[in-house]
Amino acid sequence: MPMNIAIDGPVGAGKSSIADQVAARLNILHLDTGAMYRAFGLYALRSGVDMNSEEALSGLVERVDVQVEYRDGAQRTLLFGEDVSEMIRTGEVSAAASAVSKWPAVRRHMVRAQQEMALKADMLIDGRDIGTVVLKDSPCKIFLTAATEERARRRYLQQTAKGDMTPYEQVLRELNARDEQDMNRKTDPLRQAEDAVLVDSTNMTQDETVDAIVAIVEEIYGKQ
Ligand code: C5P
Repeated sequence: MPMNIAIDGPVGAGKSSIADQVAARLNILHLDTGAMYRAFGLYALRSGVDMNSEEALSGLVERVDVQVEYRDGAQRTLLFGEDVSEMIRTGEVSAAASAVSKWPAVRRHMVRAQQEMALKADMLIDGRDIGTVVLKDSPCKIFLTAATEERARRRYLQQTAKGDMTPYEQVLRELNARDEQDMNRKTDPLRQAEDAVLVDSTNMTQDETVDAIVAIVEEIYGKQ
């Protein structure tokens, strides 16, 4: 059995960058499942379908081709072969990803693809339902969170560094809206698995958070 590590948590908890660093330290792949929902969200936007229509989205998810590749260890996300890794990071695509991911047919499709990948290699997977659904039998689960204002502050700083001048208040509003949607949907809502270890990074630096997670993994799987 490959070594599989689950990391879940709300928006802006730093999952992606922390997961990247933990995976690099352990020398395993990092699968960012949010990128897969984002790629499908982008496809739904481009197709102009009604995001509130489960029927339309079920049809669309059967036709979509979302693939994940690794180049120099970094994930690239492909939509029908087109590298969309950067363009799926906009606010519009974030909202679309959250809207499409509430539908059971969409989740079933993505979960199946993620489980197939997890069987093939040692992998750290981050998302919202990894510990509860995708890797529910994994012995190693982490729930990474931080206080809401701190998550919004980090997201705001990240965006301004990239030249996106969205005001802090709006970042906070969007973050709350997405969490609300992700935690209250009927199918596989974001929640901490009973056997997940909670890591609250509110008062921790990135390096401290990475160290804490590597220590948890080593306690469960032994030193790598
Ligand atoms: O992690 P990220 O913010 O990139 O995820 C984008 C959206 O995709 C989330 O807001 C959530 O709605 C959805 N998602 C999900 N299940 C996952 C990963 C992401 O529903 N495993």
